[in-house]
Amino acid sequence: MESTPSFVAINAAPFEEAAIVAAMFAGAFVAFRCGFALARLRPALWRVPDRPGRAAITFDDGPDPANTEGVLEDLAAANVKATFFVLGERVVANERLVRAMAASGHDIEVHGWRHRFTLRQRSATLCRELADATFAIERITSVKPVLYRPPFGMLSPAASRAARAHGLQPYLWSAWARDWRKRRPTDMLASLTSGLKPGAVFLLHDGEGTGGTPGAVQNMRPALRQFLVASREAGYALEPLRSLLGSS
Ligand SMILES: [Zn+2]
Repeated sequence: MESTPSFVAINAAPFEEAAIVAAMFAGAFVAFRCGFALARLRPALWRVPDRPGRAAITFDDGPDPANTEGVLEDLAAANVKATFFVLGERVVANERLVRAMAASGHDIEVHGWRHRFTLRQRSATLCRELADATFAIERITSVKPVLYRPPFGMLSPAASRAARAHGLQPYLWSAWARDWRKRRPTDMLASLTSGLKPGAVFLLHDGEGTGGTPGAVQNMRPALRQFLVASREAGYALEPLRSLLGSS
């Protein structure tokens, strides 16, 4: 009978064994946290009630080395702070961009590790990926994320449990520009302005390569710039979602 556990390499060097054992404990801890949250699903929220004259603007799927910098420039020109729901694998590949976002005062939250349908992912995988994405953001920015937007806005029960386990509140959106495909900027602007209400949460994208039309972000930016002006002229302050949630 095999006496050595099959998951430990028999001839592993001491430091490799230590790493394997540490990974086993980390995996068990993450699984425990998600299991503990089993009975406490978190519903997704769409907008923030009781916020007259205030709304939040959010960007998904970044950081994207081809597009995020331009979006940051547009926001800086209008002196608007936003929320970026980022992908863990893109965060670790673009640390400089993440630092630039944080240094500019933007809020950085979790969109997942990869851009996958949560309904197709196993609970353990989702749990580990949200832990990894949360850790990556906190390591780079020194700020722990508190919000989670599932890819495609589809919050499976497993994703809800994983979010709960890692202290993340699922947040969707109340208005969007449908900017992942190339619509006319004037049509996108009309979609955004029609959604301008107290506590609105706007969804745009600074990242490509997740199923949308190539070049869509460049196409969206004229609409973004006009919306930043139009919302101010309508008496609205756009701010990060975390700050909109934090005070009334
Ligand atoms: Zn997305």
